[in-house]
Amino acid sequence: MVSILLFILETLITTVTAQQLCVPYTSSFTFTSGYPAIWTTPTSDVFNTQEFQQVNSSIDWSKVPNIKPHTLVNGVVDKTGYSASDPDCWWSYNQCTSPKAPGLQPDVVLCPEPGTLGLTYDDGPNCSHTVFYDFLKEKNQKATMFFIGSNVAAFPYEAKRALTDGHQVCVHTWSHQPMTTLTNDEALAELYYSRKTIKYVMGVTPLYWRPPFGDVDDRIRAIAQQLNLATIIWNLDSNDWNMVPAGIEQPAQIDDIFQGLVDLGKNGTFANSGAIVLQHELNNGTMSKAIEWYPKIKSAYKHVVPIASCMNVTRPYAESNYTYPSFAEYISKNSSSTLKASYISLIFGVIAIFIAQLFSISIF
Ligand SMILES: [Zn+2]
Repeated sequence: MVSILLFILETLITTVTAQQLCVPYTSSFTFTSGYPAIWTTPTSDVFNTQEFQQVNSSIDWSKVPNIKPHTLVNGVVDKTGYSASDPDCWWSYNQCTSPKAPGLQPDVVLCPEPGTLGLTYDDGPNCSHTVFYDFLKEKNQKATMFFIGSNVAAFPYEAKRALTDGHQVCVHTWSHQPMTTLTNDEALAELYYSRKTIKYVMGVTPLYWRPPFGDVDDRIRAIAQQLNLATIIWNLDSNDWNMVPAGIEQPAQIDDIFQGLVDLGKNGTFANSGAIVLQHELNNGTMSKAIEWYPKIKSAYKHVVPIASCMNVTRPYAESNYTYPSFAEYISKNSSSTLKASYISLIFGVIAIFIAQLFSISIF
């Protein structure tokens, strides 16, 4: 009985501590110069710096298709007047992922391993993600995190935890704009400064990025590719980003979508190749849904892994001293750790029952 009370007390303390951690730490990282203002599209303030001009001149602009930036209408990219033949492989128009301009790599849209789900969370790091990251750690589950540069600058210690916990960190731009609406300089700066922030805070240079809203075309792909950033999209969308209060869908509607993802994992849809699911670290609602549905998702798919592992990419960063587990390594480590954890739980369970019987204490 005492142990139960202690457990409840410990849980309460952990919850309170987790909430307190949401107050950003005072860090030694500074973003006062050499970076765009947090959460704003980069402007001439950075374009005129020597650093950015060097980055700009390192790009072979003859390889970047001359596509006019799109415009926003009521916050959404305007598709009016765009050719139905989709000459620019514009994802927002047609979900195109096979570039039409020469020399561009196709987007990554799925995990090649059959029955395997690539787990991705966008828009972090989140100030209040401690409970969520603790959950993933407890489950020995790694994921691919697409970090917004401005969030990394605002929450550097939260960002560092992702790398420490073994998640794969990728670029998700500086200020989360629809990239096809930006000028070449703006798009280049969005990618360059978010990558620079990740390197400054975490010490790694990601080789992968994801466009916010999936909004990419051959012009943006060409700029990203010259920064050694390959494009990752998805083929399953949880729609969690659109849940109230941030969005307009009710939690029950999001539950239906998650149930659909579970069904797809079980019904043979991915018998020959896997999937990549889009989820978000956006707010407590999306993180809670991720925790709630994880057990069913995990049991519906053969393997649930980060993208680097399902693609057998052992070097997801430019730094050669950082290696990531291959698919076989990830699966074997994950399975054995899970097995080990199960045995430990079993042993402790048996001991607890034995002690309870010894002292005739009811543990229920
Ligand atoms: Zn996003």
